[in-house]
Amino acid sequence: MQVGPTQEFILTKFAASIIWFSGIAIWYLIRFPFERSAKKLRITRSLFDWRERGLLTIIFFVLSAFPAGYVLTGFPGFLNYSFVPALSWLGLIVLGASLWLFYRSHVYLDRNWSMSLEIREQHVLVKSGIYRLIRHPMYASFLLLGIAQALLLPNLIVGGAGLVGLAFFCALRISREEQLMTDFFGEEYRSYAATTKRIIPGII
Ligand code: SAH
Repeated sequence: MQVGPTQEFILTKFAASIIWFSGIAIWYLIRFPFERSAKKLRITRSLFDWRERGLLTIIFFVLSAFPAGYVLTGFPGFLNYSFVPALSWLGLIVLGASLWLFYRSHVYLDRNWSMSLEIREQHVLVKSGIYRLIRHPMYASFLLLGIAQALLLPNLIVGGAGLVGLAFFCALRISREEQLMTDFFGEEYRSYAATTKRIIPGII
């Protein structure tokens, strides 16, 4: 069969799954060196508790375990929605934007990054780069990852639960993190917060 010029650019469901897998692999590759260097710095204040553990577990399930299980087994197939190649292309673009934002957030936060809510020795308040525009670019990258996942993997649990789980994570994590930052940095954080938005520049 002759393949027309437009057909060459049609993504298949299998290709979309490979794109999702590659995205998650790149995500872990970006994080790995920062996780290693963070371990070298002493934690001076920590809010890591059952609630934080729960939130991190939710993130692991909605952004890794559920989608990986779906890609490998096809379960739960009865919750599939129709696969639209054009939406997968959009998913690829959103995935690229998410990974870029995730990488830049790590670069700017550098030694001040923690998986949980923590203050490390010599912690400084980062206000430059993307942190000049929004206070939570890494969480914005998670939300983009959730949107990319819903576009690439057409399943209600994978796409829907991903977005609901992320919204839940942001709602519970951000206010507590900002309280920790305010307690530690005081006026410096208050005035930084007064001139920036949380997730979307100029909007929220
Ligand atoms: N919420 C930020 C950072 C996520 S990492 C984002 O989405 O980009 C979480 C850790 O980063 C927290 O333990 C907190 O101590 C630290 N943190 C958050 N904002 C920071 C900032 N502007 N400067 C320095 N550290 C920050």
